[in-house]
Amino acid sequence: MAEHVLVTGGAGYIGSHACKALARAGFVPVAFDNLSTGWAEAVKFGPFVQGDLMDRARVDEAFARFRPVAVMHFAALSLVGESMRDPGLYWRINLGGALNLFEAAVAAQCRNIVFSSTCATYGDQDGVMLDEGCEQRPINAYGASKRAIEDMLVNFGQAYGLNHVIFRYFNVAGSDPEGEIGEQHRPETHLIPLMLEAIEGKRPALTLFGTDYPTPDGTCVRDYVHVTDLADAHVLGLKRLLDGQGNGVFNLGTGRGFSVREVITHAGAVTNRPVPVVEGPRRPGDAAALVSGSVRACEELGWRPERSDLRQMITDAWRWSQSPGYSE
Ligand code: UDP
Repeated sequence: MAEHVLVTGGAGYIGSHACKALARAGFVPVAFDNLSTGWAEAVKFGPFVQGDLMDRARVDEAFARFRPVAVMHFAALSLVGESMRDPGLYWRINLGGALNLFEAAVAAQCRNIVFSSTCATYGDQDGVMLDEGCEQRPINAYGASKRAIEDMLVNFGQAYGLNHVIFRYFNVAGSDPEGEIGEQHRPETHLIPLMLEAIEGKRPALTLFGTDYPTPDGTCVRDYVHVTDLADAHVLGLKRLLDGQGNGVFNLGTGRGFSVREVITHAGAVTNRPVPVVEGPRRPGDAAALVSGSVRACEELGWRPERSDLRQMITDAWRWSQSPGYSE
């Protein structure tokens, strides 16, 4: 019988792509999601449990019903700007949800957690290439909450033998090449979808957050990675745990950074349309540059970010934004 994997946040952008990758690899993904930011229509690859991680009984029920061999934990609040305005929300929801989940996993004797962490745990480090050994000094509440969950996993490993693979993502972009699912948030705050909406005239312009950063063109530099490459890494991380190869921490990025202005230029070229842009002030909590210097995921997991070319990511996102699956 196929093994079940509990995917918290399975109705969200990254979680739904992970569900697809799991199904393709022969697992049954069980999406657990409260639909606060996710989409019921994105749950297509296995059973759906509508529930909230803050509701421990509901989480226990999911473990009892599906007996998952592992958990992929995506469900969290993840907006840098919002986390600076309302840090309490991030500490309460992200930490509270993870705590309930890990305690429920231990109680159900499910010993394997693949955790969705972030490069925001590193903070602003003068443009150095960030590898997994870099000190974590988050500069926003979102990154701080994710770092705290990493610490929680280490403690749970020591005390209860809960195994973990932690992935620190850089900037996730693009959409399922087959067009079944894609990127969409309510409200949208991410650069590429906002930029595509501006190109289509759905919003007046993209606001460029800050032009005075200490980067070559003054705008923030980010390392963009395709969501399907990221989902594949999660399956590799899961297999590592199921094979008993032990805990691991991996950055997921490409090692190549693009400034916001460069992303805008590429989007103009891909869509062959002008990108309406207005310059605005910096967004609180933004680091100047976040670029992954890591090759660990490639060396230890055999991961290959095959689709993470910026133009490919924008092309896939553009196709999705114009498809019937994308709601207005
Ligand atoms: N950004 C921007 N205008 C926007 C949204 C984002 O200039 O309307 C910039 C943002 O400051 C950051 C980069 O684009 O430097 C990527 O931001 P996003 O919110 O997509 O991802 P994050 O880096 O916060 O994970």
